[in-house]
Amino acid sequence: MFNNLQDKLESAFKNLKGQARITELNVASTIKEIRRALVDADVNYKIAKEFTDKIREKATGEKVLNAISPGQLMVKIVKDELTELMGGEEAVFNAKGNPAVILIAGLQGSGKTTFSGKLANYLKSKKGLSPLLVAADIYRPAAMEQLRVLGEQIGVEVYIEPENKDAVSIAKNAIAESKSRNKNVIIIDTAGRLAVDEQMMTEVADIKNAVNPQEILFVVDSMTGQDAVNTAKAFNERLDFSGVVLTKLDGDTRGGAALSIKYTVNKPIKFVSNGEKMDALDVFYPERMAQRILGMGDITTLVERAQQQFDEEQAKKLESKIRKNKFDFADFKAQLDQIKKMGNMKDLLGMIPGVGAKIKDLDISDESFKGIEAMIDSMTPEERSNPDIINGSRRKRIATGSGKDIAEVNAFMKQFEQMRDMMKNMNKMGAFGRMMPGMG
Ligand code: GDP
Repeated sequence: MFNNLQDKLESAFKNLKGQARITELNVASTIKEIRRALVDADVNYKIAKEFTDKIREKATGEKVLNAISPGQLMVKIVKDELTELMGGEEAVFNAKGNPAVILIAGLQGSGKTTFSGKLANYLKSKKGLSPLLVAADIYRPAAMEQLRVLGEQIGVEVYIEPENKDAVSIAKNAIAESKSRNKNVIIIDTAGRLAVDEQMMTEVADIKNAVNPQEILFVVDSMTGQDAVNTAKAFNERLDFSGVVLTKLDGDTRGGAALSIKYTVNKPIKFVSNGEKMDALDVFYPERMAQRILGMGDITTLVERAQQQFDEEQAKKLESKIRKNKFDFADFKAQLDQIKKMGNMKDLLGMIPGVGAKIKDLDISDESFKGIEAMIDSMTPEERSNPDIINGSRRKRIATGSGKDIAEVNAFMKQFEQMRDMMKNMNKMGAFGRMMPGMG
């Protein structure tokens, strides 16, 4: 995420390396580079300039303490200002009401429908609410169908009136219907257009006036940089929305939208969407995002994702197997599945401080697990639970079955053995209980 920006900021901070103090002179080139980095990330020049002016003021005004170098101080100042630029505190998302009404707006292709599904999934599984999705895109039958399929996938009811050509009445009917269906939150997915268009705006504004939503979320594709910001302005003028959702942050976005939207429309980013899977949704925390931009990682989010997938029952079983030195390939595969559920691999690794920049050019995708999974799948159930019986001829069969060569199978078996040895040693040291509580 934001790799280019991250590189350029890092190189800007290098200017201060070896300097004993921050002075107007030595800070000038750093400031200039930061500004260029922001403009290259598609941040509007005026915002970039104002941002760096603030940085200069803060940096030259601060005393550098002995314990911290000018470079470190600069990173801290930039982190604080980035956090501020993106909204400072975490924004409140209000889903209280009977029912709570959430209106989703944005251009076609921005990720509205996908987000509507994700939000319903989030409110249901994390907040214990009972959502109803409403398909109010009357122009594209495919959009209704897409929402219906998503609803089915996440186990959330979808309200559809295929013959009704009046989006306002669909929204009103859905709210009336929600009472009899015992739904306490309604998510209305509206129609978008490829560009800002008067008819679309009027329609969404009419729905807003008719249903009085407590949240209007404007969904925008973060890959579109300054265009995203301009679209946000147009929607905000008509709808006075309550928050922004940035989508496709898993792609190769430069960062401009994330950095300038709050400044431009003065509305907070509330959620970020980073993948096509229904659980690829994060609440937006400005400080964590600033840390990630600066390559400081985001351990908090990583731990939260792990906790979300944590299954206590399964963890206990696993622990007992490890204690008895019975960890096998089936357990290994189950662990892989859990990790995959936490999200995109590269994204996860990028949350570890210092790792993001190092792996940015590597092609790490969920595909990287495929080879290992294929090998485990090519084992018989007996081999999976009794790794010790896997001799030479069995290895040959596994290699053929998984399309790997024998050397790869041997290397994998060796790694697995090493892992088991490590677990055995941890058992001996009694360290297990303390070191692995979060693994599940
Ligand atoms: P809508 O027209 O605004 O309703 O947009 P859709 O929800 O149909 O999304 C348009 C395309 O973007 C679809 O192919 C989605 O799968 C994809 N998409 C949506 N959100 C994300 C995201 O966060 N990451 C990625 N990679 N793709 C997304």
